[in-house]
Amino acid sequence: MTEVSVAKVDAAATGDLVVLKNVDKHFGALHVLQDIDLTITRGEVVVVIGPSGSGKSTLCRTINRLETIDSGTITIDGKPLPQEGKELARLRADVGMVFQSFNLFAHKTVLENVMLGQIKVRKADKKKAEEKARSLLDRVGVASQAEKYPAQLSGGQQQRVAIARALAMDPKVMLFDEPTSALDPEMINEVLEVMQQLARDGMTMIVVTHEMGFARSAANRVVFMADGKIVEEAVPDQFFSNPRSDRAKDFLSKIL
Ligand code: ADP
Ligand code: MG
Repeated sequence: MTEVSVAKVDAAATGDLVVLKNVDKHFGALHVLQDIDLTITRGEVVVVIGPSGSGKSTLCRTINRLETIDSGTITIDGKPLPQEGKELARLRADVGMVFQSFNLFAHKTVLENVMLGQIKVRKADKKKAEEKARSLLDRVGVASQAEKYPAQLSGGQQQRVAIARALAMDPKVMLFDEPTSALDPEMINEVLEVMQQLARDGMTMIVVTHEMGFARSAANRVVFMADGKIVEEAVPDQFFSNPRSDRAKDFLSKIL
């Protein structure tokens, strides 16, 4: 584990990429994020786990500003999150996100889905965008599906296209919010394998998942959330074999 993380950190410029400090957020009376401090280093893979309703999705959504925060600060690559406009669009491109539900554009082909953001946000020309899209579709194993529409693909293929689409923007960090939860079991591994490869390639990743095998093999660190708080953080081996908090022990006893 240590070897992997050292190699990854050396491979890129070192430094903190995503930094949350004293982040608080409420939904009405619900204190959904409570004084969250979290730093993700370049090249690091952080798996976020915790019971349903603990705030994992909200945490992800604040990082690319799909949700605002009440107080605290979030910086990406040293810059505070922009509030709106072009700056915000660029930030969203820097922070790739893959959700549980397949959120491809239904009326665009697979190829167009992966080209669109490059042209609109990154101002790439059409030929370059297509080349890159085809190469990324190849990388995630769906090159032969390029001319199809999302509905013609399996869930696992659609999720891999969603990953390719996010990667097309050259994101600094990738957020995955339960990317395999809505998949039929036989499709889970094909998506996890793409994510494993991405991790090996040195991508900085924040992954909310219940796939503990992935957490054990790909994560540099596990962050355990409950009731809007980060309760525990540890390297996977330590977390799974020797959780410190009662909340984590209880959670692990239910899922392992
Ligand atoms: P998790 O992803 O860990 O299951 P979420 O971040 O989705 O948790 O939700 C945390 C809590 O916030 C839950 O109680 C949920 O019902 C609530 N919540 C999430 N989004 C909203 C919203 N837009 N408005 C009000 N409550 C919300
Ligand atoms: Mg969630």
